[in-house]
Amino acid sequence: MKILVINCGSSSLKFQLIDSESEAVICKGLCERIGIEGSRIVYTPEGKDKITIETPMPDHNRAIELVIEALTNKENGVVSLDEIGAVGHRIVHGGEKFTKSVVINEEVIKAIEDVSDLAPLHNPANLIGIRACQKAMPGVPMVAVFDTAFHQTMPQEAYLYGLPYSYYEKYGIRRYGFHGTSHSYVSKRAAQILGKDAKDLKIIVCHLGNGASVSAVKGGECIDTSMGLTPLEGLIMGTRTGDIDPSVVEFVMKKENSSVADVTNLLNKKSGVFGLSDELSSDFRDLEDAYVEGHAGAKRAVDAFAYRVLKYIGAYTAAMGGVDAICFTAGVGENSGFVRKLICERLGFIGATLDEEANKVRGKEQEISGADSKVKLMVVPTNEELAIARDTYELTK
Ligand code: AMP
Repeated sequence: MKILVINCGSSSLKFQLIDSESEAVICKGLCERIGIEGSRIVYTPEGKDKITIETPMPDHNRAIELVIEALTNKENGVVSLDEIGAVGHRIVHGGEKFTKSVVINEEVIKAIEDVSDLAPLHNPANLIGIRACQKAMPGVPMVAVFDTAFHQTMPQEAYLYGLPYSYYEKYGIRRYGFHGTSHSYVSKRAAQILGKDAKDLKIIVCHLGNGASVSAVKGGECIDTSMGLTPLEGLIMGTRTGDIDPSVVEFVMKKENSSVADVTNLLNKKSGVFGLSDELSSDFRDLEDAYVEGHAGAKRAVDAFAYRVLKYIGAYTAAMGGVDAICFTAGVGENSGFVRKLICERLGFIGATLDEEANKVRGKEQEISGADSKVKLMVVPTNEELAIARDTYELTK
């Protein structure tokens, strides 16, 4: 069966067509600038060159039509429409309602709408994607896969904030965590690579990309993760602050005479390694190059980033009562031996050692710990689309 995986943002739509049997990616692409001038679809059918089509895309319905046209057209299409057996949608926030992936029906759509105030930028866009697919592919089963679901096993002591409990009861203010599909995929894959049952392992997954989070996975279940009510909490990220004292908000508002919206924008878009490096870059490739050349801002930013990851590893080792494996994934985690080294060289306190030669790996599964290491250090590339396709297949086959 062919599974279409859709990741719909407010002005973009990423897609992959995956064969459920071979798990091969038959086509992948992206619709950009939906509803904005200059929109285009860029896609790569398996074994062919990248195709770019500049065309108006006033809304997501048109974007989905173009995706289907790209997948099925006579010249370089890869399937006929009736071969697409199911669609898997990435949904950012499932609140407490969704602890695993579900087949989409009207009740599910209503429940996703109900938690939209927890992810006002993402959930409405995800819902638009669902509606557009329903219109373009009537009768094709669809599955919702939630970024938050894997973290729903967190115990109350980990997910509650130190706020009056009534705020949790009234408004659902608590830590939810994100990147769940990635943390789940990587922790399961790590157990497979180690040839062990996930039930017998304590694993820390460091998902270090433009957005970044760490999770503690004990016995196959998430017991803590660094993102919170929103994806702003936790690690220092590309442009997001991660953990800060909440008093900073009022302080900055007074000093700069700015609004809540201005400060929210500052914390999400202008901070992180971008802000710490004096706006040199949010891209770790640029930062690493500058660090090596002695750029003070790049060093400051990358050191602070690595230190925050180290602190979370320490915290989660304590939370789990030990750790068997630490996995690095996502853009930075998979590709940057430089950042991995900054973190791992300070892990002697848990008996972890780094194999510097193995740590040169980029984007491939690789054990990077030394032979004498008491903790396995691993690079495990994430594959959120494949995880979504697998769940979609399981629920609809
Ligand atoms: P993601 O959000 O997972 O797509 O990751 C994006 C981040 O990965 C960006 O900050 C990139 O700079 C970073 N990245 C990608 N390739 C490399 C690389 N070879 N070395 C360092 N960072 C990289």
